[in-house]
Amino acid sequence: MTVHPRTSCPNRCVYCYVQDLGLDFRDAKPSRLSGEELVFSLVSNPWFLPGRMGTFLAFGSLCDPFHPSCVEKTIDFMVAVAGKLKNPCQFSTKMYLSEKTVERLSKIDGLSLSPLITITSLEKAHLLEPHASPPEKRMESISHLKAAGFKPLLFLRPIIPGVTDQEIDHILRRAKKAGAVGVVFGSLKVSQNILARLEQTGIDLKTTLKEENLSLEGDKLVPIPTIEFKKKAVHTAKERGLIPFLSTCCANAYTAQVPCMSLCWTTHFCTQCPNNCPHKIPDIPKEGIARTIRFLSRREPKRIRLEDQKITVYLPDSRRTKNVRKHGHMLQVAARKRVKIAQVRAFR
Ligand code: SF4
Ligand code: SF4
Repeated sequence: MTVHPRTSCPNRCVYCYVQDLGLDFRDAKPSRLSGEELVFSLVSNPWFLPGRMGTFLAFGSLCDPFHPSCVEKTIDFMVAVAGKLKNPCQFSTKMYLSEKTVERLSKIDGLSLSPLITITSLEKAHLLEPHASPPEKRMESISHLKAAGFKPLLFLRPIIPGVTDQEIDHILRRAKKAGAVGVVFGSLKVSQNILARLEQTGIDLKTTLKEENLSLEGDKLVPIPTIEFKKKAVHTAKERGLIPFLSTCCANAYTAQVPCMSLCWTTHFCTQCPNNCPHKIPDIPKEGIARTIRFLSRREPKRIRLEDQKITVYLPDSRRTKNVRKHGHMLQVAARKRVKIAQVRAFR
């Protein structure tokens, strides 16, 4: 679940999709919520499960959470989450993190924090991210985080064909030297606007789109396939002594040392990192599952089938079906197993 210390972003990166989501860079506004109000809004969200084994939180999908205009709000939010909820937190940033800022983060009691430092290019950063901190300052952020006891990861995102793939070895080496323990790979999404902005910086992706048989329409965001690149990149990262991740939730899980909330070990996203999720799945007995379902749905399960990776709950048929997906999701997060909720007709 994403947390937004502000909506929209003064960094105005060329490849940013924020404007395609209907937000204007000129209207960047800090959140009006206090830390306590954020906690209240999270616990009021029916898709949110509190606690270390609960919903993972990611700071910064609509802004850079460490832009000077929202550092205080971000830290305020993290203090509140750590104090009241304990959910694993993660941020991604292109801003410089001074030793002082990192020290403040390290002093937040009870905070599980997965720091991602974003770099997409060393050579073209001044064109692609003209208002963010230069990559060498971001490398310093990695060093500060490592020195303070965090497990900083390089966030190699977005992977821009012809740019990031050309520089990957150099970036990985520099990040490792700075103190990164791993790397998360993330794809690029383009719209017509993003394509045009990239073109102005001399990056032409029209051939890539044609080769991939992709067409763009207005604001619609289309991911550029990078699966082949990522397969090689995972290998390269391991050679460079970095732990590779294909999803940010895995990085968050690795830091919090809990099983991945999205059950990535059951998908092709798992890179078999040292977190070893399959060995951390909680052992929840049927009665615990029944109690959870009673609490969530106010209905008595007729039967529960418990398998290694899957739970099937049979509920009496009811008109109150609209929350079934939410309840299944909550149980899935808590139990870290796929959940299927089946409705069965009651005998008359
Ligand atoms: S820092 Fe992130 S949110 Fe801000 S403009 Fe750049 S890509 Fe967009
Ligand atoms: S073991 Fe696999 S699924 Fe679990 S955090 Fe590591 S990479 Fe992700």
